[in-house]
Amino acid sequence: MSNYKFYDQVNKAFDKAAKYTRFDQGLLAQIKACNAVLRIAFPLEKDDGSIEVIHGWRVQHSHHKLPTKGGIRYSLTVNEDETMALAALMTYKCAVVDVPFGGAKGGIRINKSDYSDAELERITRRFTFELYKKSFIGPGIDVPAPDYGTSAREMGWILDTYRQFSSELNAEGCVTGKPLNQGGIRGRTEATGRGVFFGIEEAVSNKDDMKILGLEEGIEGKTFVVQGLGNVGYHAAKYFIDAGAIMVGVAEIDGSIYNKKGIDLAKLLEYKMESKGIIGFPGTKTLKNNSAVLEAECDILVPAALENQLTTKNATKIKAKIIAEAANGPTSTEAHDIIKNRGALIIPDNYLNAGGVTVSYFEWLKNIQHVRFGRMGKRFEEESYKKILRVIETISDRKFTEKEIGILAKGAGEAELVDSGLKDTMINSYNQINELRKKHDVDLRTAAFISAINKLGVIYEQMGIFP
Ligand code: NAD
Repeated sequence: MSNYKFYDQVNKAFDKAAKYTRFDQGLLAQIKACNAVLRIAFPLEKDDGSIEVIHGWRVQHSHHKLPTKGGIRYSLTVNEDETMALAALMTYKCAVVDVPFGGAKGGIRINKSDYSDAELERITRRFTFELYKKSFIGPGIDVPAPDYGTSAREMGWILDTYRQFSSELNAEGCVTGKPLNQGGIRGRTEATGRGVFFGIEEAVSNKDDMKILGLEEGIEGKTFVVQGLGNVGYHAAKYFIDAGAIMVGVAEIDGSIYNKKGIDLAKLLEYKMESKGIIGFPGTKTLKNNSAVLEAECDILVPAALENQLTTKNATKIKAKIIAEAANGPTSTEAHDIIKNRGALIIPDNYLNAGGVTVSYFEWLKNIQHVRFGRMGKRFEEESYKKILRVIETISDRKFTEKEIGILAKGAGEAELVDSGLKDTMINSYNQINELRKKHDVDLRTAAFISAINKLGVIYEQMGIFP
């Protein structure tokens, strides 16, 4: 097992930022503390009839707002320290983007590919049952979501299991990232990658920052490398490419590949599905191992796999001018300083990958409101726009075609509203932390922590301490 102390790393970044806030040590210690930690071991009956003990955790970092919220991870890296660190990051992330939840995280220590689908379903359902029994799940208590190694399928199993025990009206809100036909929301699957894109789009529109980095403004023409072509990495890469960026390198479990002229994402994904890896993808150079591409020439490096990837071992060799932290905790505290001192811009995880929890918040709202966003207003909006277009036609010579009317008079449905809410959140939050960066002359990570501590500190002060 690794000696990496992820929770310490998160707390170091917190302490660095806390110096710029007005709160006393006791209150800061309360904000930092994990409020509840659940450790579970339960038996899995495997397909061949044998029994295996499965280990899982759920950590609710902060109860200052309820429900608590955070993903469930299936990975061999899962342990108590990792889950505490990720839960803490969720609290700060929610505060940074003004999502009214406390932070939480869960994890099961398994390598997903070692289990059949039926076994994974039994593990997920039993884990949900354990959470339910201990009051660690519920629409007003604690709401899981997908993370590394889990997806909408597992969230569907969680909901179905929860429903076996609970007949409460808002049961659908006990988990987010669900399939659409089980109360999910349009745009959740791609939300984290989409949020990464909006965050970077905002960062590269900053004239002064781009000048310092020696880069043009805008995404178009920028080269990037992505580590981890899973949910977050794939979607971030897709939106970068759609906006004209060039993917020059990719890392996956089996190794890393590079082509300075660009790699076709859609074809690479097909290749990865067929050959269960990326090595050998036509037209690309295979590098010596799966971390080598992190050191490749590029404008933007997008770590989108796991924590502790940019460390003192490779930090001096990282050439990217912008580090887009799509994963949680990809950069160690020491590596952060080395990369920052070299002059690169680090867009921190506790802001940049908040798109997932933002859209999860929209999904939860949809579930407790029992109505799809846009259902009430879309047609009314369209009729109103049509009336305006008709008035324009009567007072001018302009005649609109049916196609133009279709485009100009389109009302906002769920997908459009989710995308708009996500974009607004990512832009507003970037500007909030950028202001704090300027005010205190700190980096963006410290600024994001200052933003979170300021918001949390005020709530804790108002709450007082219940005996
Ligand atoms: P995922 O399981 O969908 O994908 C992760 C990918 O990374 C997989 O394809 C895996 O093979 C690859 N990978 C693992 N180790 C690697 C390595 N050493 N080198 C290269 N590739 C490697 O997971 P995800 O949901 O995309 O999550 C990725 C990261 O983003 C995690 O840190 C997670 O906590 C964070 N995150 C996810 C969400 C979400 O909505 N899913 C939200 C916020 C943050």
